[in-house]
Amino acid sequence: MKRADVVELFTRLRELNPHPTTELAYTTPFELLVAVVLSAQATDVGVNKATKKLYPVANTPQAILELGEEGLKKYINTIGLFNAKAKNVIALCRLLVEQHHGEVPRTREALEALPGVGRKTANVMLNTAFGEPTIAVDTHIFRVANRTGLAPGKDVRAVEDKLEKVVPAEFKRDAHHWLILHGRYVCKARKPDCPHCPIRDLCRYKHKTVE
Ligand code: SF4
Repeated sequence: MKRADVVELFTRLRELNPHPTTELAYTTPFELLVAVVLSAQATDVGVNKATKKLYPVANTPQAILELGEEGLKKYINTIGLFNAKAKNVIALCRLLVEQHHGEVPRTREALEALPGVGRKTANVMLNTAFGEPTIAVDTHIFRVANRTGLAPGKDVRAVEDKLEKVVPAEFKRDAHHWLILHGRYVCKARKPDCPHCPIRDLCRYKHKTVE
């Protein structure tokens, strides 16, 4: 995609949503981290329902450790893969208490060393909790980047590297959320809403849907 088109694409997404953010509910970096870990292969709405009950009871690593794995499961058992996720969250809390004084670390290296935290989650934390211009490529961003021709790539890392190069600095911090929301609500996996898409004329997808 030509640079002028990239600028136009993000200018339009920004006009529609000047202050985009995550749909996960959180008030602290730790709450966001646990929500992101719980959100793998689950919906944000489902995670928010669970954390709405969990966080008033336990929203620090120490408090969740005190709940224990079984106690934690009672709050998250409506979320897919909750057994494995409970184990991960407990291990995560233990490591935060033992190595980081109960705080969420701010470096990629330390984040990726946490149980259940991969590159994508680290990018979400760096971007959304700490304000860094990272782009976490999830399934929505991967699809949008490839369909539109913005940053085509055969795997998520290739798309992330391409986005890193092509997204202009002024849009970088929010690009992550604009692209996710666009993929979630407009450029949907099975049937993209091309007729009502605000970037239709810029998009290179060959199989655009019609009314
Ligand atoms: S025109 Fe269609 S394929 Fe292209 S970004 Fe919009 S919804 Fe997605």
